[in-house]
Amino acid sequence: MRISAPSKRRRSELPYDRNNIFAKILRGEIPCKKVYEDGHVLAFDDINPQAPTHILVIPKGEYVSADDFGERATPEEAQAMFRAVSKIARDVGAAAEGYRILANHGINAHQEVPHFHIHIFAGRKLGPMLARA
Ligand code: AMP
Repeated sequence: MRISAPSKRRRSELPYDRNNIFAKILRGEIPCKKVYEDGHVLAFDDINPQAPTHILVIPKGEYVSADDFGERATPEEAQAMFRAVSKIARDVGAAAEGYRILANHGINAHQEVPHFHIHIFAGRKLGPMLARA
């Protein structure tokens, strides 16, 4: 299958909401416990951690979800996200023992915040990937 170049058109059903909580964090209107920042990416501790280490990595650009980011992000933005995730995991000492990354998209995945984010979980045995039905 051939993968086409990013389009400028947003395919996600939802328009980007500039009042979402992560947009407010990016604008400095709401505080966060910053872990990492570069020109394209901000990372901070999750407010309701599900593991001893639970970090959210977000692009600075306006992307609703994984679907939207995958479709429209520039190569520089896409590279920055994944470089940041692996650097952060290494820097917090999670790479040696293992960690999990996760991105929820849409209703079935229970995405709560409509600004694309990658969760990093570490610091304990994380169990199977999904709860067994
Ligand atoms: P998701 O269900 O993938 O959209 O996850 C959203 C995550 O954002 C949850 O794990 C929340 O605990 C987290 N969250 C919500 N508000 C904040 C905040 N102000 N600072 C840090 N994390 C937050």
